Amino acid sequence: MSARARGQLMKAVAVCLLLLVPYGGKRADVPVPPGVWKHLGQPKDGEWLDQYREEGQTFAEYKASAARPPAARTTLYVVPMLTRPATDPGLPERVRASLAAFYGRPAKLLEPRAIPLRAYNRRRRQVHITGLARAVAARRPKDALITVAVTDRDLYSKGLNYVQGWGSERLGVAIVSTARVWQSADPAGSRRRLLAMAVHEAGHVLAMKHCTFYRCLMNGVATRDEEHRRPLLLCPVCRSKLLWALQLDTHERYGAWARYLRGQGLEKDARLVDRAAAATRKASH
Ligand SMILES: [Zn+2]
Ligand SMILES: [Zn+2]
Repeated sequence: MSARARGQLMKAVAVCLLLLVPYGGKRADVPVPPGVWKHLGQPKDGEWLDQYREEGQTFAEYKASAARPPAARTTLYVVPMLTRPATDPGLPERVRASLAAFYGRPAKLLEPRAIPLRAYNRRRRQVHITGLARAVAARRPKDALITVAVTDRDLYSKGLNYVQGWGSERLGVAIVSTARVWQSADPAGSRRRLLAMAVHEAGHVLAMKHCTFYRCLMNGVATRDEEHRRPLLLCPVCRSKLLWALQLDTHERYGAWARYLRGQGLEKDARLVDRAAAATRKASH
């Protein structure tokens, strides 16, 4: 065989192997009931996993790396950091209620706070996300499990023009910005995006990495299409991490989350949660 033919054969073998191995090279390590969760598949140009080659995180890896939060950290907090008259005054309360329903722990609203001047970059007219997160972390209550700041300021990070949301396990803080979300002409869609962002970023505070297995609330998203596709539902791998970290009851959590989504008029999302609950119940019997 010529060197050229050998090269072509090797290339063909590499392509076949790539097709056989799921994206990220890892497999879901918890049982997945059929019919609800779709595989994430290969990313399209410009999508999150096309831009960032993340490997994913199995349940076993999560358990090995993440300590359960200390028992004294019992409560989730939401800090409104809004600088203008709010486009949606009910947002901080809705975020609070979404966190309580999703994470199964008490969630409280803190008094509104100003954006610290040192985190504001006048030239960019943006707020530096880690500067803001450090300021929030410095004043978080002693029993704070996750503290989520909601701001209307546009955020940036080193090397990124803007950031819409971010969560840090080390700081115990997640930040969500409404600045770009309200630019959309679809208020119901914008509310859904903000809730998804808040719950997703709070998941990072619990050391959950982006999901590469299924369409899942812990998927990273880079395009509007991906954001639209991302369900308000964890896949069984990410759900196992949450239940393990906070020692929650799976059926109770599904019920509370579906009720919350229905109350927000997100019927389609609530029905998907109902289907996940039914499939999980059936699989456990
Ligand atoms: Zn994320
Ligand atoms: Zn997942």
